[in-house]
Amino acid sequence: MGKIRTVLGDIEPTALGLTYMHEHVITHPPADVADRDLAMESIAAATRELTSFFLAGGRALVEMTPRDYGRDPQALREISAATGVHIICTTGWLKDKFCRRWVEERTVNELADEMIREIEEGIDGAGVRAGVIKAGSSLNAITPAEEKVFRAAGRAHRETGALISTHTEKGTMALEQIELLRREGVSPERILVGHLDHKPELDYWRSVAQTGANLGVDQIGKEKYLPDSRRIELILAMVAEGYGDQLCLSGDMARASYWPAYGGWGGPGLTYILWRFLPWLRERGLDSSQIEAMMGKTPARLLQLGVA
Ligand SMILES: [Zn+2]
Repeated sequence: MGKIRTVLGDIEPTALGLTYMHEHVITHPPADVADRDLAMESIAAATRELTSFFLAGGRALVEMTPRDYGRDPQALREISAATGVHIICTTGWLKDKFCRRWVEERTVNELADEMIREIEEGIDGAGVRAGVIKAGSSLNAITPAEEKVFRAAGRAHRETGALISTHTEKGTMALEQIELLRREGVSPERILVGHLDHKPELDYWRSVAQTGANLGVDQIGKEKYLPDSRRIELILAMVAEGYGDQLCLSGDMARASYWPAYGGWGGPGLTYILWRFLPWLRERGLDSSQIEAMMGKTPARLLQLGVA
């Protein structure tokens, strides 16, 4: 079995526990991002929110903030040590809007080398190693800069075996992402396509699952985009069709106002899935082993390195 690479070192997959596969703990978005609610910069607030998560039964988070969105590996290390929550951080880049200025002048192999270095040696000499690879696309398009990142992600994956976890804009381009990575020699089983609950269509989810790829249902608690009751229907339908082991549940709580720890009154925070959403799924007929598969077994399988 491959190890799972956390910000504090490698752990056995059996030590992972209940995991959210797409969250943000600390982000320093670029200065030209006008919406400052997207900045999550307080180590104290993160420590409070992750403590609540831990007390609710959560044990691990995949921190999906890449370099171009203001990743902070040192802070993640501190927060993980203070709370006992395993944090897996990411290498790679986000969609065009963020990655272009970073990747435009560089070749696919240069980008792949940086990803491999961050997974094998560490990030900027900070002693923190990445455990997952990010790539993203735009609305209904994969731009030339994004295509470079996807190709680099494929090459870095072949070298390290790390999971490729993607950003889709509003759920679009999932099949194109998978096809592009496939052409780089990536098996779809090693891809997690993100944000599919922005495109809540069972046929579409099924066509993604049929490739063997995994699906991120990772906007849970954001009722402004989709009522959670609809997410539940889709999850139940996918489980009934035998795709339960390919679903990853998370909240992508990437705004300070989503976290009670920042003092907001209405945010779902990191406990919502544990306290509200999972009991709701159980009420609707999922048994503990099916929930355990989505929250524990699947993350442990996906996050292992060295199984390219
Ligand atoms: Zn995110």
